[in-house]
Amino acid sequence: MSKSLQAIRGMNDILPEQTPLWRYFEGTVARLLDNYGYRQIRMPIVEFTELFKRSIGEVTDIVEKEMYTFDDRNGDSLTLRPEGTAACVRAVLEHGITGGGQVQKLWYIGPMFRHERPQKGRYRQFHQIGCEVFNLDGPDIDAELIVLTWRLWGELGIRDAVKLELNSLGTAEARARYRDALVEFLSARLEHLDEDSQRRLKTNPLRVLDTKNPDTQAVLVDAPKLADYLDEESRVHFEGLKARLDAAGIPYVNNPKLVRGLDYYSKTVFEWVTDKLGAQGTVCAGGRYDGLVEQMGGKPTPGVGFAMGIERLVLMLEALDKVPQALSRQVDVYLCAFGEAAELAALSLSERVRDQLPNLRLQINAGAGSFKSQFKKADKSGALYALILGDDELAQQVVGFKPLRGQGEQQSIAWDALAAHLATCVVQG
Ligand code: ATP
Ligand code: MG
Repeated sequence: MSKSLQAIRGMNDILPEQTPLWRYFEGTVARLLDNYGYRQIRMPIVEFTELFKRSIGEVTDIVEKEMYTFDDRNGDSLTLRPEGTAACVRAVLEHGITGGGQVQKLWYIGPMFRHERPQKGRYRQFHQIGCEVFNLDGPDIDAELIVLTWRLWGELGIRDAVKLELNSLGTAEARARYRDALVEFLSARLEHLDEDSQRRLKTNPLRVLDTKNPDTQAVLVDAPKLADYLDEESRVHFEGLKARLDAAGIPYVNNPKLVRGLDYYSKTVFEWVTDKLGAQGTVCAGGRYDGLVEQMGGKPTPGVGFAMGIERLVLMLEALDKVPQALSRQVDVYLCAFGEAAELAALSLSERVRDQLPNLRLQINAGAGSFKSQFKKADKSGALYALILGDDELAQQVVGFKPLRGQGEQQSIAWDALAAHLATCVVQG
């Protein structure tokens, strides 16, 4: 196939073999969020470029080098969303739904776009499920977000494989004071910093803490600590969060170097990380952004949220062998019909069965091939039972009912009794 007719690098098809696991994951998260009282919001995939520059920050990896930005036919600069928070803040402001201190607990799901180097767990189109909470400023809501993800890991069976890292970035003022101290410290040791860190020192010094370069890491050992610059309010907030996590029995580590790649965070930041995915170890990340709404032109409105990467979590479920067994079977009953008259009967019979058993997964293979080949397909489908409808069965208004997984002999079931019979032998999920 010529390259221009192939999918774009880093943008993946999710094939039918994979979608059951995706839907299981998405369904589990959606149910959990519903149960905690979060309501879904859906934003467009494209926004004005300015929105992301203003919210994420001009001097961040995302805005500097990862965005898919283009001019539309009106000459407006548009960008495929690299994350969900900016658009969510825009939406709540535009519709006035956080005005007057109204609490909003929202979640979203969908594709995000970043021009990164594609590799395992890192793609150019990827998918996130995220939460955003507005107008709650206490540590209790930070804790709730963490508690509900902890419950999710429990339901998915991956608790042992993830670790929670926490930090507090303090208020904007505290961070500014810290930034000055850090810049002074690092500027005196410029020649020991890697190139990237030298550049970041000028543009976004806190990101130097994020470095993977061992020499720079060595310099950082004696650098001023953000924790020592925390304002009292942020310190109390952080202690409040930790006390709640202790009470809930959720283990965490305080990682003072955790700064996150987006400018809008304040106070709490956290990441759930795993060592099961190689270099792409962060599966869920978030934090508090009390200044963001105001920065985007709204009234001061506290906010906190997180986003999890669906691809990475799906990879994890596979790597840890946590794909539920039930997902391997997508068909309960497979109906094989032979001959024109039987095919007609098969359609109306199966519709009658569906009327009575709306959750039954029934597949018809009318009119395709010999008895033997249809039977092979029935078996391959994973179905528990095959129904056989040929001329003889038609004449007697019955179907042959054949267990495919070794649970007994073939028998004849009258059409009128079929739904009731299936109801007793197919356990429906
Ligand atoms: P990383 O440090 O791995 O680049 P990030 O800090 O850029 O992550 P966020 O912007 O916080 O990531 O996004 C939240 C989550 O979305 C990440 O923890 C990850 O699970 C997922 N994610 C981010 N970028 C990608 C990507 N390019 N491909 C797949 N998943 C991603
Ligand atoms: Mg990134």
